[in-house]
Amino acid sequence: SQRYPHQPEYLQAVREVLNSIWPFYSANPKYQQQGLLERMLEPERLIRFRVCWVDDKGEVQINRAFRVQHSSAIGPYKGGMRFHPSVNASILKFLAFEQTFKNALTSLPMGGGKGGSDFDPKGKSDGEIMRFCQALMLELHRHVGPDTDVPAGDIGVGAREVAYMVGMMKKLTNRTSCVFTGKGLTFGGSELRPEATGYGLLYFVSAMLEEQGQSVAGKIISVSGSGNVAQFAIEKAMELGGKVITASDSSGSVYDPAGFTPEKLALLRDIKERGGRISEYARAVGAEYLEGRTPWSVPTELALPCATQNELHAVDAKALIANGVQLVAEGANMPSTADAISLFHEAGVAFAPGKAANAGGVATSGLEMSQNAQRLSWRRETVDEHLHHIMTSIHKLCVEHGREESGRINYEKGANIAGFVRVAEAMLAQGVL
Ligand code: NDP
Repeated sequence: SQRYPHQPEYLQAVREVLNSIWPFYSANPKYQQQGLLERMLEPERLIRFRVCWVDDKGEVQINRAFRVQHSSAIGPYKGGMRFHPSVNASILKFLAFEQTFKNALTSLPMGGGKGGSDFDPKGKSDGEIMRFCQALMLELHRHVGPDTDVPAGDIGVGAREVAYMVGMMKKLTNRTSCVFTGKGLTFGGSELRPEATGYGLLYFVSAMLEEQGQSVAGKIISVSGSGNVAQFAIEKAMELGGKVITASDSSGSVYDPAGFTPEKLALLRDIKERGGRISEYARAVGAEYLEGRTPWSVPTELALPCATQNELHAVDAKALIANGVQLVAEGANMPSTADAISLFHEAGVAFAPGKAANAGGVATSGLEMSQNAQRLSWRRETVDEHLHHIMTSIHKLCVEHGREESGRINYEKGANIAGFVRVAEAMLAQGVL
């Protein structure tokens, strides 16, 4: 914390991981050699660059962009690109750090990275988005490649942005190898990649409930966010017989006790795709709109935060607990604050951290890399089977490493220890680098 006092998100992520692995780390001298922990906390490389582009008015715009290459111990750096005004080195370092453990949990050969820019895609024309993506690749192309670093999408970076970056990469290098995942199906993308994080989250939740002899069917579910992860989490939750009663965006939440239907979800998708707000959706379906509020104040059994980091605070955790929440699983990265997580643990609420529960997206990206290397496209059912298998395997790892003396499973501890062990073993084997 002395070295990076100005990087609160990074320190928060590191603190959370260290707190939960500390007893295990202290009991295993094997991991206390070679400066292993200190090396694990320092990204291997952080690239920071300027992106200049011309807007529709002919004016030059300048943004900052980054790529954090955190760890290549297990395989090529892998992690998404985020376009959002809040993007800075602290947020990307926290995401790359978390990504390293998450990718390790998938058991696929992927290291950890993350990147992005403070570019705000909101209100930009398609031409502006394209020119920005191309300008960004003018620099980023030097640092990525199929065996080096394979980025993907994240907040503000969907299929359209990935496609523009892939196109520019090809133009600059004269190669068509896999340098991004989350590509369109017509140029090397994988079936089920858009759905993977949301679907995977529900596969993980199903495994958690199964552990308690229960299932998603009949459960009341609160989801936050209304983007990629939230939409497909809602879709799979409905498919499994759950009733989803909330969604949100950065302006407010919708509360609909009658629950989502496939028709309502199609409408939400439509509104979000054309840049609309959740308030518009609430009006259209005649549901309650909670202006400026999170969805955590309403009675629910399962809470799935799927929007962004630090969107679920202690006050929200208290409200959820008072309203009888049974399980919290993170679709977003680090949506719950440390205080909120402590409250869940104290109240006996099963809590699954993002690095385990939302690993389905990057796992399917790993499967996209495999398909590209094979020059094959797998069927949707095949990808879904792999995804399901990977999520249940991650759940098993969490149970193995996270079971407490009381018999309860501490998923946070389980995920952190399992991820740590895999990265640590690879680093120890490769020597001091
Ligand atoms: P999207 O950009 O598709 O959606 C983000 C959603 O979060 C939008 O509904 C957005 O609302 C909302 N949001 C953003 N900022 C805030 C805020 N401050 N308060 C409340 N809501 C907010 O992103 P994704 O769905 O892809 O990603 C969501 C989360 O999941 C992120 O944490 C991401 O890192 C994580 N994740 C994503 C994966 C993926 O495969 N896409 C994989 C693993 C993790 P608005 O429209 O108002 O901005």
